[in-house]
Parts: sequence; C-alpha cells; structure tokens
Amino acid sequence: MHTYCDRCNEPADHPIDVWDDPELAALARDLGYRSVCGGCYDDLVVEAREAREQQADDRRVEHRAPAHLAVRLEPADGGAPQETVTEDISESGVQVRIVSGLEAGTVVRISTAEGGADAVAIVEVVWRNGDALRAGLRLVEASESWAALVRSHLTNAAE
Ligand SMILES: [Zn+2]
Repeated sequence: MHTYCDRCNEPADHPIDVWDDPELAALARDLGYRSVCGGCYDDLVVEAREAREQQADDRRVEHRAPAHLAVRLEPADGGAPQETVTEDISESGVQVRIVSGLEAGTVVRISTAEGGADAVAIVEVVWRNGDALRAGLRLVEASESWAALVRSHLTNAAE
C-alpha cells in the first residue's frame, strides 16, 4: 500500500517526514503536512527559506510610534533653537511640528524637554500641513537614549 504525499496527494515511494526536519517543522505544521514526496520536500525547503527571509524583512520595517513629545531643536550651525512637539518617532527618525527657520539639510540636536533622550538629526524634508509646518528628521547616527525612548512608546502603543 502506498503512502500519499500530504502536499500533492500523489503516491510517495519514499515519503519524508517533515516534522523531523527542524528547518521545515514549523512551516509544515502550519500547512498541515506530515509526510511528503521528494519533489514536494524540495519545494518546502525553498518556501521555508523564503518565509524566513520575509520575516527578516518585516523586522527591518521601521516602526513609527505616534507621540506628542516636547522637544528642543538646536541647529548645529548656531541658528535659534526652538521648542516644539513631535508627531511621531522611530528609531531612525522623527517628525516634528516646526515654527520656522529650518531648511532641508540642516543638522540639529534634538532633545526631549524632560531630558533623557537626545540625538543628532538632519532635516530631510519640510512641508506644510494645513497652516502648520512639519519637518521630517533622520537621525545621523543611532542614539541609544533615543532608541530607548522610541521602544517605550512602541510598547505603549501596542498595549
Ligand atoms: Zn508531493
């Protein structure tokens, strides 16, 4: 009597138990496959690899947390500092409301009003939102204090 491949439903002379394969077990259980033929095994290996790559891509997606935080922007070129409020924050950037006087390319030190987090960022884009100005800033280099701030807001947003 034949064993049938769980995937293609063809008779399999040498079925492979995919639950024994640590690389494939999770995917195979999700899909409901236990034993498959050689051809389907090869396909599953490819699918499992693609699934892992997709998960890695998902982790790289930038998570932005909506957050209205009082911050201070100090232009590195000595321009007037301004106190403002963030719209959203991520580990690599921040969107702020601005008063005026910031142009794309300006490097600023951004720090939270209550202290604790700061970073150096470059103004990437300035745009008008209704009658307000917004600026998108990108961190010039990773800041551990800023990353910790973002993580705390992402945690809050997820709850
Ligand atoms: Zn098969």
